[in-house]
Amino acid sequence: MKTTEKRTLHPTICPYCSLGCGFFLELEEGKAVGIRYMPEHPVNEGSLCPKGNAAPDILNHPDRLKYPLLKTENGWKQLEWEEALSLAAEKLGTARKENGPNSLAFLGSAKCSNEENYLFQKIARLLGTSNVDNCARLCHASTLIGLGKTLGAGAMTNPLADLSNSDCVFVIGSNFAENHPAVARQVLRAKDKGAFVIVADPRLTPTSWLADLTLRLKPGTDVALLNGMMHVIVNEGLLDRNFVREKTEGFPGLEQALQRCCPETASRITGIPPSEIIKAARAYARAGAASIVYSMGITQHISGTDNVTACADLALLCGQVGRKGAGVLPLRGQNNVQGACDMGALAEFFPGYGKVGDAEAAGRLKTLWKTDKLPEKPGLTATEIAEAAGKGKLKALYVMGEDLVNSHADSSRVREALESLDFLVVQDIFMTDTAEYADLVLPAAAWAEKEGSFTSTERRVQWTDRALSPPGEAKPDIEILLLLAEKLGLGLPYRTAGDVLAEISGAVPSYGGMTKERLKKGFGLIWPCPDSSHPGTPVLHVGRFKTPDGKARLIPVEYQSPAEIPDPDYPFLLTTGRVVLHYNAGSMSRRSKALLEKEPGLFVEIHPSDAKAMEIGEGNRLVLETRRGKTEATARLTGKIGPGVLFMPFHFPGTNVLTGDALDREAKIPEFKVSACRIRRE
Ligand code: SF4
Repeated sequence: MKTTEKRTLHPTICPYCSLGCGFFLELEEGKAVGIRYMPEHPVNEGSLCPKGNAAPDILNHPDRLKYPLLKTENGWKQLEWEEALSLAAEKLGTARKENGPNSLAFLGSAKCSNEENYLFQKIARLLGTSNVDNCARLCHASTLIGLGKTLGAGAMTNPLADLSNSDCVFVIGSNFAENHPAVARQVLRAKDKGAFVIVADPRLTPTSWLADLTLRLKPGTDVALLNGMMHVIVNEGLLDRNFVREKTEGFPGLEQALQRCCPETASRITGIPPSEIIKAARAYARAGAASIVYSMGITQHISGTDNVTACADLALLCGQVGRKGAGVLPLRGQNNVQGACDMGALAEFFPGYGKVGDAEAAGRLKTLWKTDKLPEKPGLTATEIAEAAGKGKLKALYVMGEDLVNSHADSSRVREALESLDFLVVQDIFMTDTAEYADLVLPAAAWAEKEGSFTSTERRVQWTDRALSPPGEAKPDIEILLLLAEKLGLGLPYRTAGDVLAEISGAVPSYGGMTKERLKKGFGLIWPCPDSSHPGTPVLHVGRFKTPDGKARLIPVEYQSPAEIPDPDYPFLLTTGRVVLHYNAGSMSRRSKALLEKEPGLFVEIHPSDAKAMEIGEGNRLVLETRRGKTEATARLTGKIGPGVLFMPFHFPGTNVLTGDALDREAKIPEFKVSACRIRRE
């Protein structure tokens, strides 16, 4: 901690996106009064995007929840903690006793720390259910599955700074210049050294301006583009035959499948000219070191896992993994989405990705947790939890730091589902739209009001100390969970987040050498860090892959059309995404005056030719309607999207009223990126 004349400077990390940018919080008389930049931080090198700059607004906001609240016929009633936690324990216990452990479900949070998510899933599993998940299910579950089955680890292969060593950067489904801005600096450095940058996106975004080659594909056609590129690479002999022979399995099957997707076929599906598909394939394959950067533009589809698998196939075919400047870099969503998954806040995985149902993985955990019983079957995912609640199969739901009413697809159905629960408890820092449905609301501390570790998208685990006190009687999530566990009779033996991390190092092999003391030195450690003398592993898959036999898997995937495509009744294709000034469902960023002033409400981008045909002008209010519901937004006319396509940010209530809940069959992620839609002027 540093001090100036009047103010204390407290090092911390940004609570918004997964980059894990560092900065100093300026404190005066126990209050956050500003920020100071941290030029020495290896990820952001001092700079912050508008959200990072506005982070203190969350801490000082008058809307912060300060006391436990019980819903009564006369409105919210303030409770003492003792009363609130006794009630939560009683309701969870009754539902479990009367309807069995699988009548309970737990939704963790990629905004909460590793220790909090570890504890959360442990409580769920000690109560006998694997119905525990987190919001990664809505953004990058397809990364976990797709990279897991090809490379053996569902995580970014190389650190962000290594992008500057790439000779070719292939960006697909990511607008990082707006949404992960620190990444743009590394790509610009690569460009300064002569790198060729390819950007594949249905929209022309600020990231497109970095591109040497722009591929404007139709939404949902990524597999066809990737297969078309791989077809060229195989047929022109541009693949790395030695790498494929020595380090992969499955090439004959992939080669055969790729013959069905020549550049002309890919062009018909994607709308990209064959010559550009060929150009992209040659540039990527011929580069000395090439990276693929992707984000939710490819993961939030019913083919999300296939999209990720195809990205890994492309990298493996060309030997572009496991060395400097060559890798596959998924840019994750929330600040701890990687960590929440590593900690096992996932329906199908225990901490460290042992599969639920695998006797060996369960055996290890039973020994560590000193229990003789753990769930033997995977539980319900976040998307399935909402569905099961709607069907009356769930009785009680515990939500920690997640606004599912606004973040899940088809939000009207989510609202109905929450109403049909016998008991809903929501633990959060603000009264979100989800909390409004709760029977009991528990006020939590924000990131700088507690201690713990967070894992960024590049697998960097960083520790933050508590900088200031939470407002009113709000408590750190870990403290709330420990008090609840005591009421539930689970008797968990920790006092601090450091104690929980000590257990995590035994449960999650890649965190084996991580301690609070080590994480506090410098800028954390990059996993795998298996023992106390290990320095961490910036580049994964050097020499061998994380699969049991050390070989990666080449897995062919076929193009499948989105679940819903435009038709005469719903003639527009609606796609959704982010903007620089807001974050996720907006529960935090919409409370920042600075951010809200610049981006105050829901808008929809429409191509000028469509607007002209429908006599829509800039700023007109439009009614958008899909088969799920309707909402209103302000028209923005722009050539950044193609004719027939609409774009809306998902940071405001209303967008997910429109999106559909068709799921990727493996990752169970909804297809947020494609909905058939119609519009009219209000
Ligand atoms: Fe950095 Fe992301 Fe925070 Fe912006 S939102 S400052 S890019 S961590």
